Amino acid sequence: MENPLKIVIVGCSGRMGHVLLECVFADGELVLHGAVDRGDVDGVVNPHLGRDAGEQLGKLSGVKVVDDIAAALKGADVLVDFTRPEASMNYLAACQQAKVAMVIGTTGFSNEQKLAITDASKDIGIVFAPNMSVGVTLLINLVQSAAKVLSEGYDIEIIEAHHRHKVDAPSGTALRLGEAAASALGRNLEQCAIYGREGVTGERDPSTIGFATVRGGDVVGDHTVLFAGIGERVELTHKASSRATFALGALRAAKFLNGKASGLFDMQDVLNLR
Ligand code: NAD
Repeated sequence: MENPLKIVIVGCSGRMGHVLLECVFADGELVLHGAVDRGDVDGVVNPHLGRDAGEQLGKLSGVKVVDDIAAALKGADVLVDFTRPEASMNYLAACQQAKVAMVIGTTGFSNEQKLAITDASKDIGIVFAPNMSVGVTLLINLVQSAAKVLSEGYDIEIIEAHHRHKVDAPSGTALRLGEAAASALGRNLEQCAIYGREGVTGERDPSTIGFATVRGGDVVGDHTVLFAGIGERVELTHKASSRATFALGALRAAKFLNGKASGLFDMQDVLNLR
């Protein structure tokens, strides 16, 4: 490829970071420009710093892992972020400063942090989506259609399962699916969500959307949206079996941002599903 897109991966030593590196190395339209991670982990120097980003994958890339985000962004096209909200906020500010587009896959942001992302999108192109897989992006559309048809007499419950290391709950994807159902029904998710039940809860309020969270083992990510009526249930389910689905979606989003000077987009935009 003549001018491959220059990608910076932050959180490059994490679970998603590793899969992203593999996918960048395998894609002829992309080149690894920078690999960034934090300088220390709980007071211990990050052992990956200064080593080749591809070393652990058995593929030397000539790019060393650094913690200096400003240096890594020089001359870059797109930064891909799968880290933690507080880290993402720092990377967002650095991208805004350097005018580098950003793909944000991190989940667990507060409303205030989401507003900061919206604000930054006036200066740089951003794709922000809690789930970058093609299947889940389609599922969001299917949930909206189902909610419109099953708007009366059907209770909506969202069940999600993830691996034991996941730190936020319910998952960003479950919340996005809840928002899709709520908006199709003219409801506000913040007002109608029930996050778990315990004790004498009383009968179910039909206007609510319930969430149930399962954590364990190495589950990559399962989501079911259940529409439970009288005499029938409709279940829309997505199961991810490999993190590659998220990484490939994120890199598709990076290519989508090429040439976009500003704007906030999600995977619906990337896949032209609006
Ligand atoms: P992980 O814990 O394996 O990796 C996190 C990475 O971020 C590590 O490299 C870590 O060093 C780095 N990091 C953490 N705190 C940091 C800080 N304060 N400053 C700088 N770097 C920091 O996690 P993971 O499983 O790779 O998931 C990362 C994020 O991506 C999570 O929020 C997860 O929910 C999300 N995720 C999103 C999608 C999607 O499709 N959008 C898919 C999978 C995971």
